[in-house]
Amino acid sequence: MFIENFKVESPNVKYTETEIESVYSYETTELVHQKNTNDTYEWVVKPKTVKYEFKTQTNLPKLGVMLVGWGGNNGSSLTGGVIANREGISWATKDNIQQANYFGSLTQASAIRVGSFQGEEIYAPFKSLLPMVNPEDIVWGGWDISDMNLADAMGRAKVFDIDLQKQLRPYMESMVPLPGIYDPDFIAANQGDRANNIIKGTKKEQLQQVIKDIKEFKEANKVDKVVVLWTANTERYSNIVVGLNDTMENLLASVDKNESEISPSTLFALACVLENVPFINGSPQNTFVPGLIDLAIKRNSLIGGDDFKSGQTKMKSVLVDFLVGAGIKPTSIVSYNHLGNNDGMNLSAPQTFRSKEISKSNVVDDMVNSNAILYGPGEHPDHVVVIKYVPYVGDSKRAMDEYTSEIFMGGKNTIVMHNTCEDSLLAAPIILDLVLLAELSTRIQFKSEHEDKFHTFHPVATILSYLTKAPLVPPGTPVVNALSKQRSMLENILRACVGLAPENNMILEYK
Ligand code: NAD
Repeated sequence: MFIENFKVESPNVKYTETEIESVYSYETTELVHQKNTNDTYEWVVKPKTVKYEFKTQTNLPKLGVMLVGWGGNNGSSLTGGVIANREGISWATKDNIQQANYFGSLTQASAIRVGSFQGEEIYAPFKSLLPMVNPEDIVWGGWDISDMNLADAMGRAKVFDIDLQKQLRPYMESMVPLPGIYDPDFIAANQGDRANNIIKGTKKEQLQQVIKDIKEFKEANKVDKVVVLWTANTERYSNIVVGLNDTMENLLASVDKNESEISPSTLFALACVLENVPFINGSPQNTFVPGLIDLAIKRNSLIGGDDFKSGQTKMKSVLVDFLVGAGIKPTSIVSYNHLGNNDGMNLSAPQTFRSKEISKSNVVDDMVNSNAILYGPGEHPDHVVVIKYVPYVGDSKRAMDEYTSEIFMGGKNTIVMHNTCEDSLLAAPIILDLVLLAELSTRIQFKSEHEDKFHTFHPVATILSYLTKAPLVPPGTPVVNALSKQRSMLENILRACVGLAPENNMILEYK
């Protein structure tokens, strides 16, 4: 059975006018290593319970979202998709009359199990866990190095059916991106043709312009909060250089000195951190150079990334988790992609491809490292990623993977997968989730029994890692790539905020 919403009744949970407060027992374990002992066991595990308190503000802000690369395939598809939902638009395809929906969005289209009612399992929308901003109330805006309005950009993207485009045009014609920061050294030379909408000046002037844009957007649209998300072209990696971008002070000084190695995405992120505006990076490049992470931590300003996890990598973080979890040993993982959209054209340059290759390559590491029965020290499957630009397939990215694994008694198992991705239709709902969850996480405060004061989550937002290919984590924090673990982490933290136990799937009621 499916219910739309629910309230938790418990001595540990209080709903006030403005907040949900919960007292939560976090069950965890501590390991102790016994040296020089005669005990059969070298390790002792001690279960322990830590009390936490959570407070979630329930008053929803009027939210503005500014996309860097607004006029791209993702930006125009997301904007059009939300308008179509808001306006209840349906359109004729060659198969049927299609209704707008949010399929592919964790917050809008997935469900959680709430409990049992008269022997039946009860599910509710994911978004019913905690108050979240309604996508249709968001004010959209952003920047692009191309001055095309969003209606024409949607046509250029060739993602939506033509009947839908016709209906959306009137809503999107007046949406025109603000000038972006264009630096041909960071994206492929083939992007030069569309770069006609550019913030001129030095790095410092560009930074100041972005700050001004955010302030003016906030003011003009009377929004309470802004989230900024990079869905612009993939840049090459920035060099990390001592004295240049390794610390907060050096990064800020380098902007003042107009150092050429400071990328446009780092400037956008810097503007946001300086303004305490959450910034999410949906592309693979190392926007978050150490100096920027340093500043975000000092200013407690949310940053999250990197690179949307939409198609091939999402499958990989499910399949390898399943194989390794089943005691099967993947030994060779080979991934081919071909795509024909502007992202594919940009990735055809070696330096931008390299960013994508790095982002895609670490995704199996945590799973491999979790099982020393299968993998010896330093052993790792061969893992190769190839991306080719094939204009004809447009936004319909093809991802082909071959997984070869060793199974029982020296046998070999090979799984081959062909995944037609519809790139932007997979990415757009992920962008929506990223901004909604980033906004939500800024309304949550918590403290453990060992702390005096409530605080927000760490500014490096690992809570978003389900949605990103190469989750950015604070220095010294383990990276989790396995998709089911990432989803559980997110769901269980939100459950804790309303005093619900983590979903443990034991279903003892029926045993
Ligand atoms: P796109 O090329 O259609 O859109 C990018 C837009 O960014 C373009 O309109 C371009 O003019 C603009 N742009 C480039 N540099 C800019 C700058 N410095 N400032 C402002 N605007 C700038 O690409 P897309 O398909 O929308 O993908 C966007 C990004 O998301 C890419 O980097 C891609 O690698 C990443 N990504 C996409 C997916 C997916 O679509 N499934 C998954 C993971 C990551």
